[in-house]
Amino acid sequence: MSLYIIIMGVQGAGKGVQAKFIQEQYGIPQISTGDLFRAMKTRDDDFARHVQEIMASGQLVPDDDTNEMVRERLEQADAQNGAIFDGFPRNAVQAQWLEAYLASKGAAITAVLLLELDLYVAFKRAFGRVTNAAGKSYNIYSNAEGIEWTFEEHPEKLFPPRLIAREIATGELLHRRPDDANAAAVIKRIDDYLQLTQPVIDYYKDKGLLVRIDAEQSIEAVRSAIANVIERAYAG
Ligand code: AMP
Repeated sequence: MSLYIIIMGVQGAGKGVQAKFIQEQYGIPQISTGDLFRAMKTRDDDFARHVQEIMASGQLVPDDDTNEMVRERLEQADAQNGAIFDGFPRNAVQAQWLEAYLASKGAAITAVLLLELDLYVAFKRAFGRVTNAAGKSYNIYSNAEGIEWTFEEHPEKLFPPRLIAREIATGELLHRRPDDANAAAVIKRIDDYLQLTQPVIDYYKDKGLLVRIDAEQSIEAVRSAIANVIERAYAG
């Protein structure tokens, strides 16, 4: 039996780590349309250049092009027993296409996993994340052991307070990703996600395929909830 899983969730919900787990546990590849489009950066043809422009502008790539890219990826040898989709489908047109494509192969979506995270927790996971030069991550709200941090006011209060965080052992000043450092940008990202994905969530809810998983649990608990869903699907 093949296994086609769609994984959805706001940034910080742990999609990446769980998709990796499914990939290793069940031997099916993760298909991230964002990664596939980003990988076109090294190509030098009109279509690849057009895709880079679309991505830079924050728009979606046209459905036909996206679906065609997914079809090509699904035809590769490693995807013959299934796949985990991440960032796809992004709308009902893509969802309908995927359903028809899989049906033409005698297959179907097994489950749509929605990793649900309280939005304030999602905000804190992005806004509170600080990293040292070697790539080790901390979080001022949830993983602050070994660091000291403070919000420093601008002397004339012309700008919002700045987060200053240091590793205690080394004294190293810690960095934030530029897109995490701005509260408004983090909120916009969360807001965009909610608006864009709601129609896809509704689509799969109506089909009885949506499985909600509490992403505030530990990574292991989320992993075992996912394993349960997949084992049940296999059993059924
Ligand atoms: P992501 O990494 O999933 O946020 O995707 C990065 C960019 O790739 C998006 O902003 C879109 O321009 C493009 N993209 C990714 N997935 C899709 C999709 N399913 N449909 C259309 N465009 C997509």
